[in-house]
Amino acid sequence: MQLSNYHSHCTFCDGRSYPEEFIKFALAHHFRAYGFSSHSPLPFETFWNMSKEDMPDYLTEIGRLKQKYKDRIEIYIGLEIDYLDETYNPSVSYFRDLPLDYRIGSVHFLPVALPLSPGHVVTIDGPYAELEQAIRLHYGGSVRRLVAQYFESSMRMVESGGIDIVGHLDKIYMNSCLNPDFNFEAEWYQRPFNSYLDLIAEKGLMVEINTKNLTRKRQTFPRAEYLPRLRQRNIPVMVNSDCHYPDLVNDGRKEAFELLLAAGYGSTRELVQGKWQDVPID
Ligand SMILES: [Zn+2]
Ligand SMILES: [Zn+2]
Repeated sequence: MQLSNYHSHCTFCDGRSYPEEFIKFALAHHFRAYGFSSHSPLPFETFWNMSKEDMPDYLTEIGRLKQKYKDRIEIYIGLEIDYLDETYNPSVSYFRDLPLDYRIGSVHFLPVALPLSPGHVVTIDGPYAELEQAIRLHYGGSVRRLVAQYFESSMRMVESGGIDIVGHLDKIYMNSCLNPDFNFEAEWYQRPFNSYLDLIAEKGLMVEINTKNLTRKRQTFPRAEYLPRLRQRNIPVMVNSDCHYPDLVNDGRKEAFELLLAAGYGSTRELVQGKWQDVPID
């Protein structure tokens, strides 16, 4: 089982500890590779995202840790970049020009009005009550319309590029499945979901198996039952814990590898000496 993690947050965004504390935990658990992926700066302030002003310090600090621990663990610097709309997303030059080892693309916010601002976006993974209110206010009470916009945004993110890894591919289900009208089996869920997988495969992107909610809520992103569909499409995957606390660095990893094996995966895509390679699951 690979001991790596490429999706993690620290005090540069909404993570709850300093970057070095995560490395200490990873070292104690014999990790081979560890990557930081702070929430990208946005055109507006949020509780979760780092600020543009902090970017130089982020690059410097992770660079310092890379050097300090280079004989013991491979440390990588990435970013979890939000797709907001055509004007602000991972493909814009600000992100392309940053000296990063990799980029995770994620959809957390769906714009419902312009200009882009905290009051003009719906947050998909905040409290459920807020999402329920947003469904009433902005989607005419229809969870289908919310789901449709999520997959449209996600597909535009993959089309416009600038990312290596698709972050928590179907996180929209975390909250929206609590809505009484939600139905995984419905054509309005299955069709965009499958089209999204087709597009990801066509573009040759990697997908993470995100274990943030595995232990606590029995959820993975993508959903465990859909992993065979990724396998059929030859989509490369890796297991990421999306941890915000050092003691959750390794959370859910073992179980996620069991799910991957059950889905027919024999390897994961890993950063080894700075290059993405397929590493057999042992
Ligand atoms: Zn995320
Ligand atoms: Zn994250």
